[in-house]
Amino acid sequence: MRKNIVAGNWKMNKNVIEAQQLMFQLLEYKKNNTSNCEIWIAPPSLYLMMAKDLYENNEIGVFSQDMSEHESGAYTGEISADMLESIDADGALIGHSERRQYHGETDSHCNRKIKLALDKGLIPVYCNGETLEQRKAGQHLEVVKNQTEVALFTLSAEEIKKVVIAYEPVWAIGTGETASPEQAQEIHAHIRNTIANKYGKEVADEISILYGGSVKPENAKEIFSQPDIDGGLIGGAALKIADFAQIIEGFN
Ligand code: PGA
Repeated sequence: MRKNIVAGNWKMNKNVIEAQQLMFQLLEYKKNNTSNCEIWIAPPSLYLMMAKDLYENNEIGVFSQDMSEHESGAYTGEISADMLESIDADGALIGHSERRQYHGETDSHCNRKIKLALDKGLIPVYCNGETLEQRKAGQHLEVVKNQTEVALFTLSAEEIKKVVIAYEPVWAIGTGETASPEQAQEIHAHIRNTIANKYGKEVADEISILYGGSVKPENAKEIFSQPDIDGGLIGGAALKIADFAQIIEGFN
């Protein structure tokens, strides 16, 4: 059975005091509520060790927002898979659309990062999704299939089972515009079929595929109820405990 996951991508938000406060609030929430999903956060990398210290029993998964495609060396500003493993982080987001847009990341970069992450026992959360132009041109199915193949299809069946995928249509990220549950389900099923065609249905059925893009307390339940949607990658609504908690409760 694949996992249900609600993951908060904090992006470049919160100073250290604010970050610590939200981490505490999440821990309190987790202690006082039973949730039917795993709860993960991806805070700015500066705060990853703080999160690991606070969540000493791994109550909440701790992920970086990115990771280098290189093992080590002269790559100013980057953090490596080895560093993440050494602080016992759970994994890394890879290929978020903002990394693609502002830092020129491609699916070939993602492919290298995913392999490095898996080699260190980290969970890669591979993000993909089409732009507005691609959707308008009716290319969304083809685009997402191609992204999935380039980023993931060098992996073995054992490896790909450990990857989590986040489908995030670029036009829905931070725009307030959400893909309808049916639109999201269509792509999620398509990603799963793409994987099943190469690796078999059993492998594809084990992979959690999250939806991201303006998930809010009001729409989470309906989105999560779709058969191929196994949770969400939440940006703006992960920054306030009340909103994030309501989204988590979309699984109750
Ligand atoms: P959003 O961001 O929920 O603010 O749209 C999602 C994401 O970028 O992961």
